[in-house]
Amino acid sequence: MTITGKLLINGEWIDGQAGTYHAVDPATGQELPPSLSKASIEQVKQAVAAAEAASSEFRRMPLQKRAGFLRACAEEIMALGEILVTRAMAETGLPKARIEGERGRTCGQLNLFADTILTGEFLDVRIDTALPDRQPLPRLDLRYMNQAIGPVVVFGASNFPLAFSVAGGDTASALAAGCPVLVKGHSSHPGTSELVAQAIARAARSTAMPAGVFSLLMGSGREVGSALVSAPEVKAVGFTGSFAGGMTLVRLAAERPEPIPVFTEMGSLNPVVLLPEALEKDAEKIAEGFIGSLNLGVGQFCTNPGLVLGIEGPALDRFVESAAGHLAQQPAGVMLNEGISQAYTQGVATISGQPGVNKMAVGEARDGKAGFCGQPTLLSVSAADFIANHQLTEEMFGPASILVRCRNLDELLAALKSLKGQLTGTIHAAAGEMADYDELIDELSQRVGRLLVNGFPTGVEVCHAMVHGGPFPATSDVRFTSVGTAAIKRFLRPICLQNYPGELFPEALQDSNPLNIWRLVNGERSRSPL
Ligand code: NAP
Repeated sequence: MTITGKLLINGEWIDGQAGTYHAVDPATGQELPPSLSKASIEQVKQAVAAAEAASSEFRRMPLQKRAGFLRACAEEIMALGEILVTRAMAETGLPKARIEGERGRTCGQLNLFADTILTGEFLDVRIDTALPDRQPLPRLDLRYMNQAIGPVVVFGASNFPLAFSVAGGDTASALAAGCPVLVKGHSSHPGTSELVAQAIARAARSTAMPAGVFSLLMGSGREVGSALVSAPEVKAVGFTGSFAGGMTLVRLAAERPEPIPVFTEMGSLNPVVLLPEALEKDAEKIAEGFIGSLNLGVGQFCTNPGLVLGIEGPALDRFVESAAGHLAQQPAGVMLNEGISQAYTQGVATISGQPGVNKMAVGEARDGKAGFCGQPTLLSVSAADFIANHQLTEEMFGPASILVRCRNLDELLAALKSLKGQLTGTIHAAAGEMADYDELIDELSQRVGRLLVNGFPTGVEVCHAMVHGGPFPATSDVRFTSVGTAAIKRFLRPICLQNYPGELFPEALQDSNPLNIWRLVNGERSRSPL
């Protein structure tokens, strides 16, 4: 298990034909061996053709077999052992516990998708049996089910080198749906990407998957990524990253001769609203939790609490004092790569320089030490200045947050109404307090994918009920989540078989219900044979 710098195309490891590069350790700024290769456009075409060739077999294979492949991926990733953890740490600057936790989450979600597809729920089978004697016209037999949309391109995210990268949530949900996956790996953790792809390749071989079921292509987004999204065989795209990158892909996909869906997750301020009674009671406790959440993973979470709103008064002053005190003790941390560190520093400088913005606290500097860093920062602004300046709603991707001081509830509402779509919204409320803020809560709920009470938005549970999505520009499609088992819906499409010969039905639609799954039969939920 060594890193070779090759690409995985049609089940084979091949040298890329578009030049070489190295991974960089963000803690030192030094290049890491070995030399790695980039895919040419011709190689992208080969991978896409292989995915298309694998599509029919993979889509129609028994669910048990597909679930076995997902479980084997999880086992093979665990079997990589320390080499994976060490390489991911070196390429991202993230600590061991975080990488190990993320590995657990990655394998856990592969297994969860395996369990999920065996329930057959995702197929959403609906059967309306024939009514030959219906007047004035008979009804024909109609059977509906979801099926895989086709080959899916996944862009690995820089900030989750395992859980949102090569075998992360997008890949797991697309494979679970029955879609071959082509990963455009992130150049911030290429060795980690290759190791995980090696694990998937071994799992694919041991469970007899078609060769093109999974490919890993490294190279520039503008070349390799764009070529993948433009390929006619590709039917959907999953992406986590910047607004600019995400929107470029959305436009590219929409302008294809055959437009395809692109599910982008592009960031969020994740507003935290502090209601007066909660502040009065718990200002210091909330402040401590807030700074812990803000600085987790050097703030490089899409659910980072980048905006706090409260009504002015002594309780808000206590919150600010306590938050500033905690933040000042936080050291600058190593960020994922040079570009992210520079963008963060620049973003904080730009927002700090806006009219009415004050710097409340900064964390400890990392003077003289090597590496690409981000210094924690807490800013504040009045609600009037916040509402008047759209630039203040730009995400500072990293450990920075801005406190909006509102004179009264009306200003707090107005500040919320000025916000665009978000992944999360948080309310801190004392017992019974929320009942008095119906309008505020409704405004917030209209702008978010997940509404939390008395907690912090970082830490996204992978489960059936999770929504990690939200109105634009948090994502490009408000109807879907990219975390949790509902993420599979992005990569499915419905098909209806009308008056179809019974002996040719797929198992899910057969009269005898051999999969023993829940189906909607003539409007009633049932597991019984017809
Ligand atoms: P990114 O620049 O959007 O890149 C993500 C992926 O998309 C990379 O593989 C990249 O390829 C590709 N890509 C970017 N622009 C493209 C384009 N115009 N055409 C085709 N492919 C393109 O995100 P990042 O590198 O992870 O971080 C940059 C910034 O994105 C951060 O500073 C932060 O502001 C934001 N970000 C947000 C989140 C979030 O959760 N919301 C997560 C990570 C980053 P290349 O590497 O070749 O460019």
